[in-house]
Amino acid sequence: MNSHLKCYKKNEVIFLKGDASICAYLIEHGKVDIFVGDETIDTLVVGDLFGEMGVLDQKPRSTSAKAHTDVVLLEVKTDQITERLQQSDPIVKAMVRVLLKRFRSLLSNDMALPGDSLLTEVESVMEDDGLTKIKLESELRSAIEDGSVKTVYQPIHDINTGKVAGFEALSRWEHPEKGVISPFEFITLAEETDLIVDVGRLVFERACEVLSQLSEQLFININVSAKQLDNDLFWKDVVSMMKEKQIAHERLKLEITETLVVDYEQAKKWINKCRALGFPICADDFGTGHSGMEQLVSLEYDVLKVDQVFVRNMFENKKYATVLQSIARIATDLNMKLVAEGVETKEQYQSLKLLGFDYGQGYFFGKPMDEKDVINLTKNG
Ligand code: C2E
Ligand code: CA
Ligand code: CA
Repeated sequence: MNSHLKCYKKNEVIFLKGDASICAYLIEHGKVDIFVGDETIDTLVVGDLFGEMGVLDQKPRSTSAKAHTDVVLLEVKTDQITERLQQSDPIVKAMVRVLLKRFRSLLSNDMALPGDSLLTEVESVMEDDGLTKIKLESELRSAIEDGSVKTVYQPIHDINTGKVAGFEALSRWEHPEKGVISPFEFITLAEETDLIVDVGRLVFERACEVLSQLSEQLFININVSAKQLDNDLFWKDVVSMMKEKQIAHERLKLEITETLVVDYEQAKKWINKCRALGFPICADDFGTGHSGMEQLVSLEYDVLKVDQVFVRNMFENKKYATVLQSIARIATDLNMKLVAEGVETKEQYQSLKLLGFDYGQGYFFGKPMDEKDVINLTKNG
């Protein structure tokens, strides 16, 4: 017999309240009674798991178990459960702890260890990363609804003419107590839930509104995340928004970061779907992810946005300049437009012009600005 299988005769005790929690059990055959004192609180059947509580929080058994009939049990080792829990989302972990604690307090009051009352435990869990995150997530949900998530636009300049050619839409969260929260922080949070689809909808809506007020030559780039790319309803809404405002699809360019291209086949499907809708596709932060050459050939980006790190280091380290030169040659040969990100000085701008870059974005050209300033800038430029 499998060494993890254990047999118990009818009425035989499997464990008693207060015993150390060594493993959990899965019922393979027969029935098991869970009891506290004289009272049977549950009778479990084939396929049920029990004894997992103590395994999860490493505390002694708070109930007892005995065989209701002859039973065969499969032992589930502590590691099998705790390793999975360690790998899980901090919010899930925190919730498991709260639920366990609450359940134990219902079963008996005497399980609380000295100085470890239910209240302090739950309070400390509330301080946990997990629940702080849940709080922030709820606040983000309200912020999306009440307009505290703003959209700003950073100019992208034509390197040859020096004139503004378009903008990248970037999100900002104006938190009432914490001030402006960086998208690095809240976009990651939004991406863990479907909130990113709501953020995306806001950005698209506002970008369409801005585009409808700009000259038809100007474009807006939008960052898109995996959950948006997967959501057909989202794209249906975007297309109808653009139709209503009569905006040509090629004026909205979608930025996809290389880190999204982990599953190559999936990325290909996304890109083909967006292309079929007529949106140009930009490879964002190009050069920092796993940008294999095959990806460049078969994903057929329209635009490469070279990551800031290359421009930042182009004069300090010749290797960065060499990479920029090579990327420029490949982009020209493959008929892709090239954008340099993080252009902060005139020297960088002039060198990128010589290298054949089409567009530049960075503080040298302009910082992200609100809609009003976008309209003013393009009126004068
Ligand atoms: P990104 O797409 O690479 O955007 C460029 C970031 O570089 C922006 O930061 C921008 O403010 C900053 N930047 C621009 N020029 C310069 C420069 O000359 N020097 C330096 N040091 N930085 C410059 P930001 O706005 O904090 O955005 C951070 C990231 O958050 C973005 O990186 C983008 O990946 C993501 N993000 C922002 N808004 C959204 C959004 O609405 N949706 C999604 N999915 N992602 C977003
Ligand atoms: Ca971007
Ligand atoms: Ca970028």
